Amino acid sequence: MRTYDFDFFVIGGGSGGVRAARMAGQRGARVGLAEAAELGGTCVNVGCIPKKLYSYAAGYAEAFEEAAGYGWQMAEAPRFDWAHLKAQRAREIGRLNGVYGTLLKNAGVQLITGWAQLIDAHTVEVDGQRHTARHILIATGGTPFVPELPGREHVVTSDAMFDLDPFPKRLMVVGGGYIACEFASIFRGLGAAVTQVHRRAHVLTGFDDDVRQFLASEMGKAGVDLVLSAEVESVRRTEKGLDVMLSRGRQHEVDTVLFATGRVPNTEGLCLEAAGVALDDRGAIAVDAHYRTSVPSIFAVGDVSTSAPLTPVALAEAMVVVDSLFGDRRRRMDYEFIPTAVFTHPNIGTCGYSESDARAKFGKVDVYCSDFKALRHTLSGRNERTFMKLVVDKASDRVVGLHMVGADAGEIVQGFAVAMRAGATKALFDSTIGIHPTAAEEFVTMRDASAV
Ligand SMILES: Cc1cc2nc3c(=O)[nH]c(=O)nc-3n(C[C@H](O)[C@H](O)[C@H](O)COP(=O)(O)OP(=O)(O)OC[C@H]3O[C@@H](n4cnc5c(N)ncnc54)[C@H](O)[C@@H]3O)c2cc1C
Repeated sequence: MRTYDFDFFVIGGGSGGVRAARMAGQRGARVGLAEAAELGGTCVNVGCIPKKLYSYAAGYAEAFEEAAGYGWQMAEAPRFDWAHLKAQRAREIGRLNGVYGTLLKNAGVQLITGWAQLIDAHTVEVDGQRHTARHILIATGGTPFVPELPGREHVVTSDAMFDLDPFPKRLMVVGGGYIACEFASIFRGLGAAVTQVHRRAHVLTGFDDDVRQFLASEMGKAGVDLVLSAEVESVRRTEKGLDVMLSRGRQHEVDTVLFATGRVPNTEGLCLEAAGVALDDRGAIAVDAHYRTSVPSIFAVGDVSTSAPLTPVALAEAMVVVDSLFGDRRRRMDYEFIPTAVFTHPNIGTCGYSESDARAKFGKVDVYCSDFKALRHTLSGRNERTFMKLVVDKASDRVVGLHMVGADAGEIVQGFAVAMRAGATKALFDSTIGIHPTAAEEFVTMRDASAV
């Protein structure tokens, strides 16, 4: 029988790769992991974690404003120190990089620093050194996509946003997905004048329509200038900054232009063709329900292959692979009722189907909506509102969509996601006692379905 240097070789030390390597190592497999940059991947270095830290930073601006309504007097207006925030973030991310290294080491994983490429179905090369493995996992993630346009060299992507120097007093965010909305909202909170440009009529394609409109209105109230149905035609550097020409003849002068116009799977430079690994029509690595690629010994998980590019999904897919290769369970991942949050101000939390998707899938649905001023804002002076929505399959009474725009929506929706996966009905929601006084209790007290 052929022998290999490793039982399992992982390419990419991000969310999916580290989880898979670590768990396989803990189960006694001989594991190698190649990472070209810092451990932790997108989520730790330029995604979820730094983004959430900056979202907290933006939240303090709101808290300072609101404090006066609760009797707090400030001797001086608070000042924001961008350099301090960046240094604090870098320190914490450095700590996390180290934690990931320790986790791998403790699981007996051999970390190989460098760019990996495939040589054949069982061989990977990193910086001229070849390693053979019985199984290979590709977990190389994704990378921002910026369309061709005149002046493309002057724009930045989300990767650069955490370390901008100086702070962009005038920021243009191009795009309408969750990353674009989050950066627009966060940098507005930190004090930038923000214009968000999106080519469609509404932001957040794929989210519930009411949520999309409500969030856009709240972001507008917070001062984000949302320019919809418009595209960037060119970007020109001038003495005063960047001159951006939009499709409808509008011209803007800003300091920084962020293109958050989607992400593409990281497949370039991997020499996939050398091993015969096929791509699907999205340019992602094609996998079956067990994350096996067109080459039986090679697997792929996370943003490089998935249809749900989120950290918890990459982790869950990695566990499916490890369980089937080094455990006793061969199972499939269920992609229904994956909860997600958008860390705009206010947050979005959502689980299950939008109203329109639910109508398409289930036919008749009941819809319950609530739009109110949270108790906190009765004294805070802020005119922010909270929105909640339930979508119920009429035939089964099952709650199939749950959506919220409001403070801590992500924290609130996580718990409801468990109930929804367990098949909770509207009757069960109604029989659940609320926690008073909270915003979350509204989800168990909505009684009147909207007239359709
Ligand atoms: C701005 C932003 C905010 C986000 N916020 C959230 C959020 O709030 N919640 C959430 O769930 N998700 C969020 N995401 C998405 C999340 O970061 C990704 O879904 C997740 O990181 C995917 O994990 P992964 O393992 O597939 O890839 P990654 O984490 O991207 O890791 C891939 C790793 O592979 C390495 N690599 C690539 N090619 C090679 C090679 N050939 N050789 C060696 N190493 C290689 C890369 O350097 C990288 O470290 C966000 C993403 C962005 C960009």
